[in-house]
Amino acid sequence: MGLLFDMHVHTRRHSPCSEIDETQLIRQAIKAGLDGLVITEHSYQWPQEELAELLQAAGEPTFLLFSGAEIFSDQGDILVYGISPEAVSQFPPGDEALHIIRRVQKLGGVAVAAHPTRAGLSYDVRIRNLPFDAIETESCNLKPHEQRLAWRLAESLELPGITSSDAHTLENAGAYAVEVDGPIHSMAHLCNAIRLRAFRARGKLK
Ligand SMILES: [Zn+2]
Ligand SMILES: [Zn+2]
Repeated sequence: MGLLFDMHVHTRRHSPCSEIDETQLIRQAIKAGLDGLVITEHSYQWPQEELAELLQAAGEPTFLLFSGAEIFSDQGDILVYGISPEAVSQFPPGDEALHIIRRVQKLGGVAVAAHPTRAGLSYDVRIRNLPFDAIETESCNLKPHEQRLAWRLAESLELPGITSSDAHTLENAGAYAVEVDGPIHSMAHLCNAIRLRAFRARGKLK
Protein backbone atom coordinates (compact mmCIF):
# COMPACT_ATOMS: atom_id res chain seq x y z
CA MET A 1 0.00 0.00 0.00
CA GLY A 2 1.45 3.34 -1.08
CA LEU A 3 0.58 6.86 -0.08
CA LEU A 4 -2.66 8.43 -1.27
CA PHE A 5 -2.26 11.86 -2.86
CA ASP A 6 -4.69 14.29 -4.43
CA MET A 7 -2.50 16.12 -6.97
CA HIS A 8 -4.90 18.89 -8.04
CA VAL A 9 -6.74 21.15 -5.56
CA HIS A 10 -7.61 24.87 -5.64
CA THR A 11 -8.23 27.08 -2.60
CA ARG A 12 -9.97 30.44 -2.43
CA ARG A 13 -6.81 32.02 -1.05
CA HIS A 14 -5.26 32.25 -4.53
CA SER A 15 -7.87 30.85 -6.97
CA PRO A 16 -10.90 33.16 -7.25
CA CYS A 17 -12.93 30.31 -8.83
CA SER A 18 -12.55 28.11 -5.70
CA GLU A 19 -14.76 28.09 -2.62
CA ILE A 20 -12.34 26.06 -0.53
CA ASP A 21 -11.39 27.63 2.79
CA GLU A 22 -7.75 26.62 3.01
CA THR A 23 -7.88 26.42 6.80
CA GLN A 24 -10.30 23.47 6.52
CA LEU A 25 -8.49 21.69 3.71
CA ILE A 26 -6.12 19.45 5.64
CA ARG A 27 -8.81 18.17 7.99
CA GLN A 28 -11.00 17.35 4.98
CA ALA A 29 -8.09 15.64 3.19
CA ILE A 30 -7.40 13.40 6.19
CA LYS A 31 -11.10 12.61 6.48
CA ALA A 32 -11.06 11.58 2.80
CA GLY A 33 -8.21 9.16 3.56
CA LEU A 34 -5.35 11.07 1.95
CA ASP A 35 -1.74 10.95 3.13
CA GLY A 36 -0.94 14.11 1.24
CA LEU A 37 -2.12 16.64 -1.27
CA VAL A 38 -0.77 19.17 -3.72
CA ILE A 39 -2.34 22.62 -3.86
CA THR A 40 -2.34 23.74 -7.51
CA GLU A 41 -3.69 27.26 -7.79
CA HIS A 42 -4.15 28.93 -11.16
CA SER A 43 -0.83 30.58 -12.10
CA TYR A 44 0.37 30.70 -8.50
CA GLN A 45 2.43 28.35 -6.37
CA TRP A 46 2.30 28.51 -2.59
CA PRO A 47 5.80 29.13 -1.22
CA GLN A 48 7.20 26.81 1.45
CA GLU A 49 6.50 29.27 4.29
CA GLU A 50 2.83 29.52 3.38
CA LEU A 51 2.51 25.70 3.34
CA ALA A 52 4.34 25.36 6.66
CA GLU A 53 2.06 27.93 8.25
CA LEU A 54 -1.06 26.10 7.10
CA LEU A 55 0.25 22.74 8.34
CA GLN A 56 1.11 24.21 11.70
CA ALA A 57 -2.29 25.85 12.04
CA ALA A 58 -3.95 22.50 11.22
CA GLY A 59 -1.91 20.71 13.89
CA GLU A 60 -1.06 17.88 11.46
CA PRO A 61 2.72 18.11 11.07
CA THR A 62 3.08 14.71 9.37
CA PHE A 63 0.54 15.38 6.63
CA LEU A 64 2.33 15.71 3.25
CA LEU A 65 1.31 19.13 1.99
CA PHE A 66 3.00 20.35 -1.20
CA SER A 67 2.31 22.90 -3.92
CA GLY A 68 2.43 23.00 -7.69
CA ALA A 69 0.45 25.19 -10.07
CA GLU A 70 -1.97 25.06 -12.98
CA ILE A 71 -0.81 27.16 -15.91
CA PHE A 72 -2.98 28.32 -18.78
CA SER A 73 -1.23 27.64 -22.11
CA ASP A 74 -2.10 28.21 -25.77
CA GLN A 75 -3.29 24.58 -26.02
CA GLY A 76 -4.84 23.77 -22.65
CA ASP A 77 -4.15 23.89 -18.91
CA ILE A 78 -0.89 22.39 -17.66
CA LEU A 79 -0.27 21.15 -14.13
CA VAL A 80 3.33 21.81 -13.18
CA TYR A 81 5.11 20.25 -10.23
CA GLY A 82 8.58 20.51 -8.77
CA ILE A 83 9.63 24.00 -9.86
CA SER A 84 9.90 27.17 -7.76
CA PRO A 85 7.09 29.70 -7.17
CA GLU A 86 9.26 32.26 -8.98
CA ALA A 87 9.56 30.03 -12.06
CA VAL A 88 5.76 29.58 -12.06
CA SER A 89 5.22 33.35 -11.95
CA GLN A 90 7.40 33.84 -15.02
CA PHE A 91 5.02 32.11 -17.45
CA PRO A 92 2.75 34.66 -19.13
CA PRO A 93 -0.92 33.58 -19.46
CA GLY A 94 -1.49 31.65 -22.69
CA ASP A 95 2.21 30.89 -23.12
CA GLU A 96 3.19 28.23 -25.66
CA ALA A 97 2.51 24.74 -24.25
CA LEU A 98 5.69 23.21 -25.64
CA HIS A 99 7.77 26.01 -24.12
CA ILE A 100 6.17 25.56 -20.68
CA ILE A 101 6.67 21.78 -20.65
CA ARG A 102 10.29 21.97 -21.82
CA ARG A 103 11.11 24.70 -19.29
CA VAL A 104 9.49 22.79 -16.40
CA GLN A 105 11.35 19.59 -17.31
CA LYS A 106 14.63 21.47 -17.69
CA LEU A 107 14.14 22.82 -14.17
CA GLY A 108 13.68 19.27 -12.86
CA GLY A 109 9.90 19.33 -12.63
CA VAL A 110 7.13 17.38 -14.31
CA ALA A 111 4.25 18.56 -16.50
CA VAL A 112 0.80 16.98 -16.64
CA ALA A 113 -2.01 17.81 -19.09
CA ALA A 114 -4.99 18.97 -17.00
CA HIS A 115 -8.45 17.65 -18.00
CA PRO A 116 -7.30 17.08 -21.63
CA THR A 117 -10.72 15.89 -22.81
CA ARG A 118 -12.94 18.35 -20.91
CA ALA A 119 -15.60 19.94 -23.13
CA GLY A 120 -14.61 23.49 -24.02
CA LEU A 121 -11.22 23.19 -22.33
CA SER A 122 -9.78 20.23 -24.17
CA TYR A 123 -6.54 19.86 -26.07
CA ASP A 124 -6.64 19.18 -29.78
CA VAL A 125 -4.68 16.60 -31.78
CA ARG A 126 -1.43 18.57 -31.24
CA ILE A 127 -1.26 17.03 -27.76
CA ARG A 128 0.49 14.15 -29.54
CA ASN A 129 3.53 16.37 -30.02
CA LEU A 130 3.69 17.59 -26.42
CA PRO A 131 6.21 15.76 -24.18
CA PHE A 132 3.97 15.48 -21.11
CA ASP A 133 5.03 13.23 -18.21
CA ALA A 134 1.42 12.15 -17.61
CA ILE A 135 -2.13 13.23 -18.33
CA GLU A 136 -5.06 13.75 -16.00
CA THR A 137 -7.63 11.09 -16.77
CA GLU A 138 -10.24 11.49 -14.02
CA SER A 139 -11.43 14.38 -11.86
CA CYS A 140 -14.61 15.95 -10.53
CA ASN A 141 -14.54 18.15 -13.64
CA LEU A 142 -14.45 15.33 -16.18
CA LYS A 143 -17.73 13.62 -17.02
CA PRO A 144 -17.73 9.82 -17.30
CA HIS A 145 -17.41 9.85 -21.10
CA GLU A 146 -14.64 12.49 -20.86
CA GLN A 147 -12.83 10.22 -18.39
CA ARG A 148 -13.11 7.27 -20.76
CA LEU A 149 -11.78 9.42 -23.62
CA ALA A 150 -8.91 10.63 -21.43
CA TRP A 151 -7.94 7.05 -20.54
CA ARG A 152 -7.99 6.13 -24.22
CA LEU A 153 -5.82 9.17 -24.97
CA ALA A 154 -3.35 8.19 -22.22
CA GLU A 155 -3.14 4.72 -23.66
CA SER A 156 -2.50 5.93 -27.19
CA LEU A 157 0.12 8.43 -25.99
CA GLU A 158 1.66 5.69 -23.79
CA LEU A 159 1.48 8.01 -20.79
CA PRO A 160 0.33 7.21 -17.27
CA GLY A 161 -3.06 8.56 -16.18
CA ILE A 162 -3.41 10.65 -13.04
CA THR A 163 -6.71 10.74 -11.16
CA SER A 164 -7.12 13.89 -9.04
CA SER A 165 -10.05 15.85 -7.68
CA ASP A 166 -9.46 19.31 -9.29
CA ALA A 167 -11.53 20.32 -6.25
CA HIS A 168 -13.02 23.81 -6.05
CA THR A 169 -15.37 22.89 -3.18
CA LEU A 170 -14.35 21.41 0.17
CA GLU A 171 -16.34 18.19 -0.14
CA ASN A 172 -14.57 17.41 -3.43
CA ALA A 173 -11.06 17.60 -1.95
CA GLY A 174 -9.69 14.07 -1.88
CA ALA A 175 -12.53 12.69 -4.02
CA TYR A 176 -9.97 11.26 -6.48
CA ALA A 177 -6.42 10.19 -5.73
CA VAL A 178 -3.31 8.39 -6.90
CA GLU A 179 -1.42 5.84 -4.83
CA VAL A 180 2.27 6.69 -4.84
CA ASP A 181 5.10 4.37 -3.81
CA GLY A 182 6.85 5.89 -0.82
CA PRO A 183 8.76 7.14 0.94
CA ILE A 184 7.77 10.66 -0.09
CA HIS A 185 9.13 13.59 1.89
CA SER A 186 9.22 16.34 -0.71
CA MET A 187 7.81 17.51 -4.00
CA ALA A 188 11.06 16.29 -5.61
CA HIS A 189 10.30 12.75 -4.38
CA LEU A 190 6.78 13.02 -5.73
CA CYS A 191 8.11 14.21 -9.12
CA ASN A 192 10.51 11.26 -9.23
CA ALA A 193 7.65 8.89 -8.53
CA ILE A 194 5.67 10.39 -11.44
CA ARG A 195 8.65 10.21 -13.80
CA LEU A 196 9.37 6.60 -12.79
CA ARG A 197 5.65 5.80 -13.00
CA ALA A 198 5.86 4.53 -9.44
CA PHE A 199 2.19 5.24 -8.80
CA ARG A 200 -1.22 3.88 -9.62
CA ALA A 201 -4.41 5.74 -10.47
CA ARG A 202 -6.95 5.01 -7.74
CA GLY A 203 -9.80 6.91 -9.36
CA LYS A 204 -12.72 7.94 -7.19
CA LEU A 205 -12.13 7.05 -3.56
CA LYS A 206 -15.74 6.86 -2.41
ZN1 LIG B 1 -10.39 27.01 -11.11
ZN1 LIG C 1 -7.71 22.95 -11.83
